[in-house]
Amino acid sequence: MLEGDEEAKILAGGHSLIPLLKLRLVQPSQLVDIARLPGLSYVREDNGAIAVGAMTTHFDVERSGLLMDALPLLPLTAATIGDVQVRNRGTIGGSLAHADPAADLGAAALALGAEFVAEGPAGRRAIPAQAFFVDVLTTALEPAEVVVEIRFPKPAGRVGADYLKFNHRAIDWAIVGIASWLVFDGDVVSDAAVGLTALGSTPLRATGVEQLLRGQKWSRDLAQAAAQRASDGLDPLSDRHGSAAYRLHLARVLTERSLIAAAARAGQQ
Ligand SMILES: Cc1cc2nc3c(=O)[nH]c(=O)nc-3n(C[C@H](O)[C@H](O)[C@H](O)COP(=O)(O)OP(=O)(O)OC[C@H]3O[C@@H](n4cnc5c(N)ncnc54)[C@H](O)[C@@H]3O)c2cc1C
Repeated sequence: MLEGDEEAKILAGGHSLIPLLKLRLVQPSQLVDIARLPGLSYVREDNGAIAVGAMTTHFDVERSGLLMDALPLLPLTAATIGDVQVRNRGTIGGSLAHADPAADLGAAALALGAEFVAEGPAGRRAIPAQAFFVDVLTTALEPAEVVVEIRFPKPAGRVGADYLKFNHRAIDWAIVGIASWLVFDGDVVSDAAVGLTALGSTPLRATGVEQLLRGQKWSRDLAQAAAQRASDGLDPLSDRHGSAAYRLHLARVLTERSLIAAAARAGQQ
């Protein structure tokens, strides 16, 4: 099928690829529509992980009770994508494989320690999220590989999540987005992960923020102090939506708000 043809492209929901085709920004030799392949749209528990099929739409992620219970960061993030028409067609696999740095699900996948299951002529392999995102619109997938599933470790403990997206209008793409994921043991933050959208050429983790939070008793002061590290080491671009300095400022402000919202969802004020 795709083997041997590096110019061929998978068509999933078409909500990123079709606009690129219309603008002649990509001109694939073949389009391989996987929309009607059975068995690629599901959310299920599997061996202590949550497995999401690559063709699961943003809407199905948003509405999944299993995800809302176990990994609320995913549905909360999916709910911010475009409008309902986009969420009805766009797929989690398509969004992550497209690797647009302004796309929302990448930061959440990174924060949740996702693993990508790719299938190609050489068989199946798992790619950790840290290695999957390589550059703008570039992933670790080989040309003939298809993402078939995204796996997420199931957290142990009381979790709180939030995805905070700053955009000009309600359905716009993120100027900056912050994915917060907190695990509590009593009122102590036993684990923390913060994913960043549109602050570099790939989704990123705010490791300085995470380090400061882990093992500490939760308080708003802690969130404020940790959020100051959200812009450490970042080199975002400047464009018509905002300068690099503005994006760095947003990273700190939104991280504090997002951490507080995530903690509140776990019952921590
Ligand atoms: C008006 C509008 C608003 C939008 N707003 C947002 C937004 O706010 N936030 C956001 O994150 N996104 C937004 N999007 C993008 C949307 O989420 C897309 O659905 C998503 O980026 C791509 O998913 P898709 O299934 O449509 O993939 P497609 O467009 O079909 O494919 C995208 C790319 O991924 C490849 N691909 C697809 N599936 C696979 C697979 N399983 N394995 C390997 N490669 C694959 C394709 O070959 C192609 O290169 C918006 C899109 C539109 C049109």
